[in-house]
Amino acid sequence: MSNHKHLVAIFGGAVSGAEAAHQFTQRNIPCVVFDQNTLPYGKIEDGLPKWHNKLRDKEEGRINEKLSHELVRFVPHIRLGREVSFEDLVSWGFSAVILAIGAWRDRPLPIEGINDYVDKGLIYQNSYIYWFNHFHEPTYTEPQFEALDNSIVVGGGLASLDVLKVLMILTVQRALKEKGHEFNMFELDRSIAKVLDGLGYTLEDLGLKGATLYYRRRIKDMPLSPTQADTPEKMAKVKMVQEKILNNYQKKYLFNVKPLHTPVDKIVENGRLVGLVFQQTELVDGRLKAIEGSETPVRASQIISSIGSIPEMIEGIPASGQVFNINQENGCQLEGYDNVFAVGNTVTGRGNIKESMKHSQIVTQEWIGTHFNDEPDAAVYEDAFETRALDTAEVVEGIAEKVAQSAPLSEDKLQELNERVSELQKLSGYKGDFMAWVEEHLPVRLEDMLGH
Ligand SMILES: Cc1cc2nc3c(=O)[nH]c(=O)nc-3n(C[C@H](O)[C@H](O)[C@H](O)COP(=O)(O)OP(=O)(O)OC[C@H]3O[C@@H](n4cnc5c(N)ncnc54)[C@H](O)[C@@H]3O)c2cc1C
Repeated sequence: MSNHKHLVAIFGGAVSGAEAAHQFTQRNIPCVVFDQNTLPYGKIEDGLPKWHNKLRDKEEGRINEKLSHELVRFVPHIRLGREVSFEDLVSWGFSAVILAIGAWRDRPLPIEGINDYVDKGLIYQNSYIYWFNHFHEPTYTEPQFEALDNSIVVGGGLASLDVLKVLMILTVQRALKEKGHEFNMFELDRSIAKVLDGLGYTLEDLGLKGATLYYRRRIKDMPLSPTQADTPEKMAKVKMVQEKILNNYQKKYLFNVKPLHTPVDKIVENGRLVGLVFQQTELVDGRLKAIEGSETPVRASQIISSIGSIPEMIEGIPASGQVFNINQENGCQLEGYDNVFAVGNTVTGRGNIKESMKHSQIVTQEWIGTHFNDEPDAAVYEDAFETRALDTAEVVEGIAEKVAQSAPLSEDKLQELNERVSELQKLSGYKGDFMAWVEEHLPVRLEDMLGH
């Protein structure tokens, strides 16, 4: 690499980090991609439910292509804020630092003291889906959760529907097994209702109540459609699509939905969260208003909160409240640092895929026609990954230009940085061949175990 004059550090190697690396390498600028995990697949591996195995493989393949470029050095098992502090990182002297670390912290459920009951009746969505995606692996040693009947899910976006599907698939699978019927996850993912119809059962026959989604707005307001609405007509269509998506999901997966309900208090017994108090809401002139005196206690076997993800705070990175201080007008530059930038979910982390759909080519009617009857969620996710990559490309294009025009690093500095990277690679056990590393560490896939 001696004829290269710059070296960029990218933290996070998933959709956004890999696209950032691609943008730099296309311009002949070498980069180092650090990821906290063994494999750099982020939400694709740990957030996209494992029934989307085809989409997962396709997206991971895209990341592999970008990260196996000869100008990329990959460093696994390095977490910014743990092995490397932000303060140290910015003092090392990389040409630029790109933060592409996503949004992995669940937005806290806004009820005072509720987090005292995490894992005592309360579970957050990110850890629950992580468990669901990986619990079949023989080497899985991380927290174990359960799928209990009569669970409450608080949310409203696509991720909360994933949680409901997980609960319904696993509870129905277990109840059917008790009656002597074996169905795997992929079969139940197609339609729980069809499986039960075929056997002549209802949920009640299986002794199940089903999981219930509590959403603070109306069903048609749920952020489920991938389309942008910039006119009242389009907005009306989007709302219609959202209602149809939810109804379609409910018909297939048989969960319950309580719209216009917001949680306001907790119900605790013997040190465990056993329910929530919900208040009803109404829309008055487009604004959500709580209805005084409508509070109702609801008991449940477990409560899963799925109200959005926000970036994890890292010591030294300037932030206000739940977001890093990023100047989006100025190439997503981090406040106070000329050559530190943030891309991807780290910037938005809003828990609402639809908001980042500015590149979406899909129009509502086409979208309904193509996807409505089969897999709307796969289409929404695919579009979200694509949008993230396009967003990142746009931002990094500007950053790469700045890097190319900046003062070149000295030979000594480049050598020092490359030596540091080699030391960190050694620490993580990585030997330098990205695809060999992937092959060695790819988790056991459920479809292979099932011969599916
Ligand atoms: C359940 C779910 C919810 C989604 N929600 C949204 C959404 O709210 N908005 C949206 O636009 N799209 C969303 N999507 C779509 C899509 O997942 C994302 O847009 C896209 O995958 C984000 O990619 P990313 O690279 O920015 O972040 P991620 O996929 O989260 O990747 C971040 C990477 O950084 C690594 N990392 C994290 N912290 C550190 C650290 N401190 N040091 C080193 N490495 C670190 C992680 O290991 C990971 O590999 C969602 C998808 C799913 C499945």
